Amino acid sequence: MRTPIIAGNWKMYKDINEALELTNSIKRDAYNVDNVGIVICPPATDLSDVGEMLMESNIDLGAQNCYWENEGAFTGEVSVPMIKSTGCKYVIIGHSERRKYFGETDETVNKKIKAAIDGGLIPIMCVGETLGQREAGKTIEVVKGQVTEGLKGFDENFLKDLVIAYEPVWAIGTGKTATPDQAQEVHAMIRTLLEKLFSKTFAEEKRVLYGGSVKPDNINVLMEEKDIDGGLIGGASLKSDSFTDIIKTTSELYRVKQEKN
Ligand code: PEP
Repeated sequence: MRTPIIAGNWKMYKDINEALELTNSIKRDAYNVDNVGIVICPPATDLSDVGEMLMESNIDLGAQNCYWENEGAFTGEVSVPMIKSTGCKYVIIGHSERRKYFGETDETVNKKIKAAIDGGLIPIMCVGETLGQREAGKTIEVVKGQVTEGLKGFDENFLKDLVIAYEPVWAIGTGKTATPDQAQEVHAMIRTLLEKLFSKTFAEEKRVLYGGSVKPDNINVLMEEKDIDGGLIGGASLKSDSFTDIIKTTSELYRVKQEKN
């Protein structure tokens, strides 16, 4: 069975003092939770200190972005070795806000995935359609393209730890969540595609998270879906009580699923 992951994307929120306070609360509130991978992704300026605070805890650290070169004259960018040196295990790649505001494409996503894995980070690759694309009936085509292009040229061994997050753009930060059926349809398609591109085992083992206005009161219906393996959480990850509620519900549902199997 795939152990779920709940990852918090803090986006451009929390200065260093706020970040340490939130990290401390999450550590306290989630210290005895098992059955679920917990990841927090603070802004780059917080990574080092938060990383130190997370040492020997059950919470992993992630960055929200990286550049594909290790060093050089790339003002404002942060490289994989730099991120790794702060204690990060994960890096979010291709979030829709990066695609929308910072010109990221499937090609840059592909380069960043290569750099991340080469440098020892686990990418959380984000894919998802806009409202216009959904309304035009193009959801499957768009997401298929993003997964195929983003993972082009890699073999399954290279991608063994990769995590994928399906995040319909129209559901991010809007309070609109995809219905469990809508999400499951895309998650199942991604798994079928992974089988076609790689292998059945790879597809069965790959964690595919859902993201888009996940809250303590909707995580349970989403997690009941067969192909949803956790969540990438924005707004609700900025408070310890809502984030840890989501984590605890996920852990409990996973425990029940394990007992049934
Ligand atoms: C996100 O930032 O990836 C996200 C899903 O945000 P929210 O939960 O606020 O919709």
